[in-house]
Amino acid sequence: MNFDLTDEQQLFVTAVKELMQSRNWEAYFAKCDEAHEYPIEWTKEIANLGIDTMLLPEEHGGMGSDWVTLTAIWEELGRCGAPTYVLYQFPGFSTILKYGSPEQIEKIFAFRGTGEQMWNSAITEPSAGSDVGSLKTTYTKKDGKVYLNGQKCFITSSAKTPYLVVMARDSQSEKPVFTEWFVDMKKPGIKLTHLDKLGLRMDSCCEISFDNVELDEKDMFGEYANGFNRVKEEFDAERFLVACTNYGIAYCAFEDAAKYANERVQFGEAIGRTQLIQDKFAKMSMKLTAMKYMLYSTAFKMDKGENVTGESAMCKYFCANTAFEVVDDAMQVLGGIGVTGHRVSRFWRDLRVDRLSGGSDEMQILTLGRAVLKKYK
Ligand SMILES: Cc1cc2nc3c(=O)[nH]c(=O)nc-3n(C[C@H](O)[C@H](O)[C@H](O)COP(=O)(O)OP(=O)(O)OC[C@H]3O[C@@H](n4cnc5c(N)ncnc54)[C@H](O)[C@@H]3O)c2cc1C
Repeated sequence: MNFDLTDEQQLFVTAVKELMQSRNWEAYFAKCDEAHEYPIEWTKEIANLGIDTMLLPEEHGGMGSDWVTLTAIWEELGRCGAPTYVLYQFPGFSTILKYGSPEQIEKIFAFRGTGEQMWNSAITEPSAGSDVGSLKTTYTKKDGKVYLNGQKCFITSSAKTPYLVVMARDSQSEKPVFTEWFVDMKKPGIKLTHLDKLGLRMDSCCEISFDNVELDEKDMFGEYANGFNRVKEEFDAERFLVACTNYGIAYCAFEDAAKYANERVQFGEAIGRTQLIQDKFAKMSMKLTAMKYMLYSTAFKMDKGENVTGESAMCKYFCANTAFEVVDDAMQVLGGIGVTGHRVSRFWRDLRVDRLSGGSDEMQILTLGRAVLKKYK
């Protein structure tokens, strides 16, 4: 495998770097994080570069790009301190194209190039977290209409997304049947309650109740009874993206700490000259290298169309935990300034949340264990 970027990939990475140097984005991110606001000024610029639709085929207004290129861009954005977690929705354009009806595709494609939030999946419920199959939200067909009832929780972006794809159980089937519904969030009967998160604060997270929300049959998303098969594919991509984000911010924290260690003088010498600090950089560097190669080799497999359920669980578990260790060490090197308004504090909070959102650490281990053993059956 060749790790050199092609000229085209390098151009993309350079454009991203220039965007990140074009203004003091860190001040903007800190403000958005503090106010729990989506960083629309930045996501608009990201969309202007075509990053929102980079995975879409050219005939649909995209770039027909690949996961290795996306990994390189995520790496550079993360390295510059950007909150790439607010970009997880962008592969949603490809998902809509694959599973949506022409009407649903048209509604979501209207968001291409805007950087605005468009849709997300709502699966988790108060009594159905890791055990998603126990979800209770139902849909019921009556007189040509469909009625949605139930409650979802921890739904990312839902304060701003105009649409949600909601997983629900068929109330009229004896067997458990799960189908997804494309829901316009302006419909009567939908109530949102904001949740206050420790980290990832530039994106919203809500509890949502559906009280007899009236839908049409045409609002079905994908195929009848295919809900869980559809989201499995989404989980693989989402977990991989979470891991790329984790690696990127660890890289940023590492570089901030390295510059500081070379400059900060205590006891008459730069702290970077002390062996205890050097030990931290040796270990941080090993961890960053391991994350990088794990991510690029997984992206390479994704581009070949291989199943990466095990690999994406491995990336998510390893990067969320390892990046947390790197950021924690970087914070230690930065001393007092690391915990008084420096961006590493934000990264540290964000990483702690990522060990749960998108599937917990424990679920990644179980998924990976199963995938590994399956290969030897
Ligand atoms: C910030 C955030 C954003 C999220 N965004 C979305 C979203 O957009 N859409 C969506 O549908 N969901 C979303 N989720 C839900 C997320 O995927 C779930 O929170 C996660 O799967 C865990 O569910 P839970 O919190 O109910 O924990 P539980 O499932 O109740 O688990 C509690 C603990 O027990 C462990 N555990 C559970 N079962 C086992 C087992 N069999 N063996 C070992 N350990 C076990 C878990 O790993 C966890 O540590 C989000 C969650 C968060 C925190």
